[in-house]
Amino acid sequence: MVYGGARLASISHLVKGVLCYNMSTAATPPSKEPVKTEEIEMPLTGVQEKKLDTDLSARTMLPIDLDGREVVLEARAYQGKDEHTQAMALINRGQGKEAGEIPLVRVHSGCVTGDIFHSLRCDCRAQLEAALQRIAQTPNGVLIYLPFHEGRGIGLFKKIKAYALQDQGLDTVDANIEIGEPIDAREYELAAEILHDLGFEKIRLMTNNPAKIEALEEAGIAIVDRVPVVVRPGMHNEHYLDTKRRRMAHKL
Ligand SMILES: [Zn+2]
Repeated sequence: MVYGGARLASISHLVKGVLCYNMSTAATPPSKEPVKTEEIEMPLTGVQEKKLDTDLSARTMLPIDLDGREVVLEARAYQGKDEHTQAMALINRGQGKEAGEIPLVRVHSGCVTGDIFHSLRCDCRAQLEAALQRIAQTPNGVLIYLPFHEGRGIGLFKKIKAYALQDQGLDTVDANIEIGEPIDAREYELAAEILHDLGFEKIRLMTNNPAKIEALEEAGIAIVDRVPVVVRPGMHNEHYLDTKRRRMAHKL
């Protein structure tokens, strides 16, 4: 894999304007100083050695609003094998003795309707919020957010096409089959690469999805514990959750 100027120039537009890097606080606790914005082009030496697909990562400290409380987490963005494949990791690193603890990890599939617009048709937002809460409280907690996993990997447009079929009575599995798409098209290579890059090869995984455990283990991540994400069903997502349990082997 080549990290030449041309290659970096070709992909740098993807991160420009999105990533901030506070030079004074990157390795120290966050301050209230204004954040200086600049492009970061940082080859991933660890990933390079493993010959993985990740080309680039960038890092900043990100203050987030967690239930009205300001929490500052380390944020890393990763550029994967193509423009479409990008990810963000929010990290709550342990210090001192806690640094050696097995990290608690959530690998979250992006969902525009749920995560952004708070749709009640799925359980994504509830899972994201539960995971963020846990990770903010757990030293060595990591949330890996994968926007390219939208609609279990088929993208936003096809997801809404499948929703339209669900409006006519099909369940989420049959709707995907009807539009000629896989039931689950998600790939976890980039998530595994990120965990390798962070040095988190042995983890506790927050998930209800056995397929996710299998995919990460196949990519060389040891999962020593599964931490369930408990979501209370609502009127609009009861059928969806039941389908995930019956037809996709989710532990719900
Ligand atoms: Zn969703």
